[in-house]
Amino acid sequence: MTATLIDGKALSKELRKEITADVERLKTEKGFTPGLAVVLVGEDPASQTYVRNKERSCKRVGMYSEVHRLPAETSEEELLNLVDRLNNDEKIHGILVQLPVPKHINEEKVIEAISPAKDVDGFHPINTGRLFIGEDSFLPCTPYGIMEMLARHGVELKGKNAVVVGRSNIVGKPVAMLLLREHATVTICHSRTQDLGAVTRQADVLVVGVGRPNFITGDMVKPGAVVIDVGINRVDGKLVGDVEFDTAKEKASLITPVPGGVGPMTITMLLRNTLLAAEKC
Ligand code: NDP
Repeated sequence: MTATLIDGKALSKELRKEITADVERLKTEKGFTPGLAVVLVGEDPASQTYVRNKERSCKRVGMYSEVHRLPAETSEEELLNLVDRLNNDEKIHGILVQLPVPKHINEEKVIEAISPAKDVDGFHPINTGRLFIGEDSFLPCTPYGIMEMLARHGVELKGKNAVVVGRSNIVGKPVAMLLLREHATVTICHSRTQDLGAVTRQADVLVVGVGRPNFITGDMVKPGAVVIDVGINRVDGKLVGDVEFDTAKEKASLITPVPGGVGPMTITMLLRNTLLAAEKC
């Protein structure tokens, strides 16, 4: 069997068209433009690229975008003051502080300072808690994008075995909660899991967010499984996922490529969250 590709780039394009139309509708019906503020502290090159992409994507769908680039030596107090100003700024509906922040700044404190109503990254404990108890909340963008991909490809989750490899707060745990919400039977694996292959081979839906190139090989995939590869790893200047694509695609029915799979969906869902935040105003 050779798997069908889940094309995150094409799906993103489609979703961004829908978002653009909704932004236009908000402008005409309510008379305001959804606005996103992104805060970047320091000069980390990867973070700079992410922030530039977010700014560009925001403008392309017609949203208002504001980027605050602060020097690495910015104090925690200065950053918290800026977040407070943005919490009270009517032009801004979504706030995102690009992580990681420099070590002298307490990341949790910054996340908790963002108003839960503007927390479009979905990292505030109030939104995380709401997700956990099944209430309406901002969903973290990468898991949200994964669920959107599964839904748009008509993947049935009810009663299926879903295995998530990785238990981070931004990928593994929230995606597991969302799969559970859709009535999958969910297993979460991590670095202490014994005989990982025996677990992954039970998966009808396999989501991998580990951060190790080609970590999940074809022999660890159940024939016909849906495989979602969240990993982004750079090997000899090339981007590769956590799943060994060439062997896994021979076993899976649907698979995301890297690049062009989960990655493009993440910013798209950030735009969707900003739109939702603006609609609630
Ligand atoms: P973390 O480093 O926070 O988490 C990695 C997880 O993998 C941990 O839970 C860890 O287990 C688990 N793990 C490590 N080694 C093993 C192993 N040998 N067997 C089983 N599990 C293992 O990473 P993130 O969740 O932040 O990111 C994961 C990957 O996804 C990265 O490549 C990252 O770049 C990518 N990513 C991609 C995004 C996108 O938009 N496409 C967005 C976010 C991340 P333990 O908890 O026991 O240590």
